[in-house]
Amino acid sequence: MLLKEKPTFRVHFKEIAVSGYEHVYFVTHKNLKAFIAIHNTTLGPALGGIRIYPYPSEEAALEDVLRLSKGMTYKAAIAEVGFGGGKSVIIANPKKDKTDELLFSFAEAVNLLKGRYIAAEDSGCTIEDIGRIRQKTPYVVGLAHKQGSGDPSRFTAWGTFRAIQSVFKKLYGCNCVEGKTIAVQGIGSVGTYLIDYLFWAGAHLVVSDLDREKVEEAVRRYKAKAVDPDKIFSVPCDVFSPCAMGGVINDRTVEQFRCKAIAGSANNQLLTEEHARQLQAKKILYAPDFVANAGGLLNVASELGQNGYDPSIPREKTHQIYDSLLGIYKIAEENGTSPVQAAHKLAEYRLQYGIGKRTAPPVFLNV
Ligand code: NAD
Repeated sequence: MLLKEKPTFRVHFKEIAVSGYEHVYFVTHKNLKAFIAIHNTTLGPALGGIRIYPYPSEEAALEDVLRLSKGMTYKAAIAEVGFGGGKSVIIANPKKDKTDELLFSFAEAVNLLKGRYIAAEDSGCTIEDIGRIRQKTPYVVGLAHKQGSGDPSRFTAWGTFRAIQSVFKKLYGCNCVEGKTIAVQGIGSVGTYLIDYLFWAGAHLVVSDLDREKVEEAVRRYKAKAVDPDKIFSVPCDVFSPCAMGGVINDRTVEQFRCKAIAGSANNQLLTEEHARQLQAKKILYAPDFVANAGGLLNVASELGQNGYDPSIPREKTHQIYDSLLGIYKIAEENGTSPVQAAHKLAEYRLQYGIGKRTAPPVFLNV
C-alpha cells in the first residue's frame, strides 16, 4: 500500500504568518501551487475541502483559502462535529491540469501535516480525485470506498430541506412546506435531491439552472415552473433557495427579492455581512448558509468515527439543523441582530469554552 512508503519530502512548504490563523502554508512542487490554511483547531483537527480553481493570482487564491477556512471553523463549531476549520486551494484548471503528479504532490503535502489538516472534496475536486489523493495519505474523507461516506450531497440537501422547514416554523408557526412556493437556483448534486424532497412535501417549485436539460427534467418530473437564471431572484415566493454559487445576495439582488425567506445550500451566499443586515431591514428571514448546508460536513465527519461510518448518525444530526436554526433565530431576535451575527456569536462562544471539542482521535479508514 502506498501509504506505507516513506514520504519523499519533495514538496516545498512556506509558512505565511496571518493574524487569527494557526497556520497558512504555500505549497509548491513542479506545477503544483497550493495554499493550505488551518484556521482554528480548538475543537479538533482542521477539516475542509480542496478547491481546484484557476485563480487569476496567488493573492486571489490566498484570499479565498483564508475566507473558506475561517468559514469552516464556524460551520464545524455550530455542527458540533469535533473538528476545526481548514481548507486548501490548488491553483489549477480542474478541466485540464489535474494530473496524477499534481494530486500526488498535493497529497504528500497533506500527509506531511500528519492529520492536522484533513482534506475533502470541494469545487473542482471530485470523489475520484479524493480516491487518488488517498493513495498517498490517509488524511482525507468522503471516500467512494464501501466503508466511506461517499457523495455528501443528499445530506446537504436534507439539511437544506430542514432549513426551509425552520423558516416556515419561524414565519408561520408550522413546518408547512405543502402548498408553499420555493424558488431553487441550481439543480446540481444538491439541488436535484432538494427538489425531490420538496416535491414529496407538496411544494410548488420554481427552478433555474444554466443547464437547460436539468431544467427540462425538473419541469417534466415535478411540474416545476422554469425561469431564466437572471429572473430567479425576483420570483414571488415563500423561500428562495440558492443552491448554485456564492455571492448571490448582493446589492443588485437584494433590491429584487420578493421572497419571505432565504434558505439554500450554496456556500458564501452573502457578498458581505452588510447584506445580512439589508435582508433583516427588508424582513426577509435568512437561514445562515454555513448552518443550513452542514449536512455534507456531518456526513464526511462521521466517516472518521470510532466505529466506522454509520449513515444513521449524520442523518440524525442533519435533521437537527432545524433546531439549531430555530435557536439562532431566537438569539438574533433577542439581541436585535441578523441570524448570521447570532450564528457567529454562537460559534465563537463554543470556541471560547471548547463546547463540542473532540474527545477521541479521528479514525482513518484503512482502505
Ligand atoms: P453542482 O456543481 O453539482 O451544481 C451547481 C448547479 O448550479 C449546476 O447545475 C450549475 O449548472 C448550476 N448553476 C451555476 N450557476 C448558475 C446560475 N447562475 N444560475 C442557475 N444555476 C446555476 O454543485 P452542488 O454540489 O450541487 O453544490 C451547490 C452549492 O452548494 C455550491 O455552492 C456548493 O459549494 C454548496 N455546497 C454543496 C455541498 C455538497 O454536499 N455538494 C455541501 C455544502 C455546500
